[in-house]
Amino acid sequence: METPADASQARPDGPGEGPHTPPLAAAAWRDLCTDCGLSRTTDPKRCGRACQFLRPDYPTMERRVHGRARAPEQYPDELHFGVHRRMLQAGLREPLPGAQWTGITTRLGERLLETGAVEAILTVTGAPEDAWRPQPALVTEPAQMATCRGMRMGYAPLLALLEAALARGYRRLAVIALPCQVYPLRVLEHELPLERLEVIGTPCADNTTTERFHEFLGLLTPEPERVNYLEFRADYYVELRFRGGGKEEIPFLQLPISRLPSDFWPLTCRTCVDYTNALADLTVGYMAGRGEQWLIVRNERGEQLLELLGDELRCSEPRSGGKRRGPVQGFIDNTERAAGGMPTRGMPDWLRPIVGRLMPYIGPRGLELARARLEMKAAESLIHLHRAAPRRARSMVPDHVRQLVSGYRISGITEAGGDGEGQDSGGPAA
Ligand SMILES: Cc1cc2nc3c(=O)[nH]c(=O)nc-3n(C[C@H](O)[C@H](O)[C@H](O)COP(=O)(O)OP(=O)(O)OC[C@H]3O[C@@H](n4cnc5c(N)ncnc54)[C@H](O)[C@@H]3O)c2cc1C
Ligand code: SF4
Ligand code: SF4
Repeated sequence: METPADASQARPDGPGEGPHTPPLAAAAWRDLCTDCGLSRTTDPKRCGRACQFLRPDYPTMERRVHGRARAPEQYPDELHFGVHRRMLQAGLREPLPGAQWTGITTRLGERLLETGAVEAILTVTGAPEDAWRPQPALVTEPAQMATCRGMRMGYAPLLALLEAALARGYRRLAVIALPCQVYPLRVLEHELPLERLEVIGTPCADNTTTERFHEFLGLLTPEPERVNYLEFRADYYVELRFRGGGKEEIPFLQLPISRLPSDFWPLTCRTCVDYTNALADLTVGYMAGRGEQWLIVRNERGEQLLELLGDELRCSEPRSGGKRRGPVQGFIDNTERAAGGMPTRGMPDWLRPIVGRLMPYIGPRGLELARARLEMKAAESLIHLHRAAPRRARSMVPDHVRQLVSGYRISGITEAGGDGEGQDSGGPAA
């Protein structure tokens, strides 16, 4: 089976064959920056008003993009997942080889180009020298989407290609991007001479540099160079697949997290406030999908994107199971104990494999797992920002993120005594 890494290593480079990556200007230095590409454009000063890491204004941006801000008093799940019309558990009936999950994202890109809805797609492919390294790409042919499949760890200056796309005369664009790339794109969208913009987002957490990711692979397996697939699955296992065949499943609790250096995850990804890509038209993830993909359809454009897939898509209602409060408070306590470094081990080694096997059955599942993950991210962001950049904590953390952890005990940040319930939201039971 072709895999993401194999696909991109075989990537043809010439225009008309593989996706095009024009030469990129150097990045300007910025504190707390994931190099979304804006600082490499002809007007790098726009970072000051567009960056997610400065003073994000989600209510205003949600109103601009979706027509209204999130309304948790009316729709309780919007506190966690942002504005949406519906959420789905879904998969392609015929999964695309080499995709991260079933390839909904890739197929959407293909359909947008096949139907002529857009002229070009900004997304990422693998760099020629290292298939794990994301490299921004301008895709104009449906077949080129195949070289972009799969998850890559690292930062791709995607928005640097906006000017190249406009210079080529493209006015109908789609962008497939991470939350910290979508936020600045949305701030600037109305200033761009575009007739149409479709934004397909993926959730994102725990990204790091490609170099750091290779170190992690080296701790997981004696053959890191053969790994061509990695996923932190919703059943609490990391799945590795190997070039030439074979796969390995490692319970989260047995990951060598305590052997990673304390700066393994940059402060940006430890403090990022938009796990679900709240400003995308359609978010394509997996965390609430109980082994399938998880779709958050946010607006009418998102509905139209899904229509492009027709019967190719198999859908069902997302479900919930288990209780998140205990695991989330445990994560918070552990993060605080680690004092800015890696979470410490809170359990003897002999117990870890047993608990690791039980977690898929007793831990939060489906939507409850996704809510838990969002609350953990919110707590992590607040704890790290209060420690490393307290002034940023005041400007960078939106109110809805603070509300996510208001029922938990976090020293110096929340007033909860730890006995109250976390934010409760609806959702059918598993
Ligand atoms: C760093 C990272 C962390 C993620 N964390 C989560 C998570 O915690 N929870 C969750 O539900 N989902 C997460 N996702 C999304 C998930 O891994 C899948 O990408 C998503 O579910 C789509 O699956 P698919 O089969 O439709 O994708 P595919 O059809 O295989 O397409 C994947 C798309 O993602 C793009 N992409 C891959 N790597 C990058 C990158 N580094 N930067 C920008 N774009 C990229 C590719 O260009 C491609 O268009 C994460 C993705 C990334 C890149
Ligand atoms: S807008 Fe992008 S390039 Fe500019 S500081 Fe933020 S992440 Fe970095
Ligand atoms: S975790 Fe957040 S900051 Fe890091 S790459 Fe993902 S969206 Fe960007």
